[in-house]
Amino acid sequence: MIVILKPEASEDLVKDIVSQIEGLGLQAHLSRGQFRTVIGVVGEEVKVDAEHLKAINGVEQVVAIMKPYKLASREFHKDDTVIEIGCPAGGTVKVGGGNCMAIAGPCACEDEAMVHQLAREVRAAGATVLRGGAYKPRTSPYSFQGHGEDALKWLRDAGRENNMPVITEVMDTRHVSIIEKYTDVFQIGARNMQNFNLLFEVGKTRKPVVLKRGLAGSIGEWLMSAEYVLSQGNRQVILCERGIKTFETSLRYTLDVSAVPVVKSLSHLPIIVDPSHAAGDRQFVPSLARAAIAAGADGVMIECHDCPGKALCDGPQALLPETFSQLMKELAAIAGVLGKKFTTTPAVKGSPVAV
Ligand code: PEP
Ligand code: MN
Repeated sequence: MIVILKPEASEDLVKDIVSQIEGLGLQAHLSRGQFRTVIGVVGEEVKVDAEHLKAINGVEQVVAIMKPYKLASREFHKDDTVIEIGCPAGGTVKVGGGNCMAIAGPCACEDEAMVHQLAREVRAAGATVLRGGAYKPRTSPYSFQGHGEDALKWLRDAGRENNMPVITEVMDTRHVSIIEKYTDVFQIGARNMQNFNLLFEVGKTRKPVVLKRGLAGSIGEWLMSAEYVLSQGNRQVILCERGIKTFETSLRYTLDVSAVPVVKSLSHLPIIVDPSHAAGDRQFVPSLARAAIAAGADGVMIECHDCPGKALCDGPQALLPETFSQLMKELAAIAGVLGKKFTTTPAVKGSPVAV
C-alpha cells in the first residue's frame, strides 16, 4: 500500500501515520520528495484500514497494491484449486484445474417422484451433482416458497439412489445446520451474495459452497464475499456467474461471460456458470452454456424439468432432459478442445455412467 500525503502534511502527521503502521506489525518506508512525502507500507496489507487512512486530514490518496481478498486471490495461491465433492456411495466429483462438472436438476423439489425421476435423467445425461430448491428466494411472498425439510429428504434420497452429491440453496443462517445434515454442497443465491452473516456461517462448516454472483455485484465484491467464507477456514468455494442486471432487457439478466476469464486471472477458485437464471428462457440456455465452457468455466448449473409447463418455479427456463443430454455432449466436446474433461459419476453398484 502507498500513502500519499498532501504538501501541507506536518512532520507530526508523518510520525503518527508511521507509528500506526508499525503498530500493526508492518513496515513504513518514507520517500520524501520536494513537495510531498509518500509512505510505502510493507507487510500484510489487509491489516491496514485504507478508509481510516483516507479519512485523515493531510492524506491525499491511499493506493492498494495487494488485492483486498487475500485468500481468494491468485497472488496468494498460484495454482487452480481443485474441489472434491464426496459422493454418497464413495468417490468424488472434482471441479477446477481441468475438471468440469455439471450440476442439474429442478429449480425446486416439487414432490418426491419428480426429484427421483429427474435425478435419474440428468445423471444419465452426464450431470454429476443434483440440484433442487427446498427454500426458494421468490420475488413475491405469495409465490411457492419451497417444501423445506421434506424437499431436503427427497433430494438426499434421490442423490443416494444415483450416487450423486446434492446441492440446495441456503437463505438463512437458521437453516445452515438442517441443510448441512441433508446435503453435500451449500448454494448461496445471488440475492444473498452479501449476506455476510450467512457467509460466515457456511464458512464455519466444512462443506463446499457454490457462491453465486449478486444481481448487481462487481467481481471485486463477489471475491470479497468468497473471502468471508474462506476466512472462516472453509477453503472449498466454487464461484458461479449467473447473470447480472444491465440496461439490456431482452433476457432476464445479462450473462457476464467475461467474468469467467477475469475471475480466473484474479482467483484460484473454480468458477462455474448458470445459464438458466441468466437467460430465463430455455431457448437461449444451450448457447450461453456453450459460451461459458468455451470461455474457460469449470462447469455449469442447469435447471431441468420433465414438464416445464407445470413447474412451480422457473418453468420457462427449464430444459427437457433430452435437450440437456444433447447439450452435455456439446459441452464435453468443447471442454475436450480445451484439454479439460467433464468428470463422470463414480459407479453406483454395477451401473457406471459414461459421459
Ligand atoms: C436458483 O438457483 O434456483 C436461484 C434462485 O438462483 P439465483 O440465486 O442465481 O437467482
Ligand atoms: Mn430457479
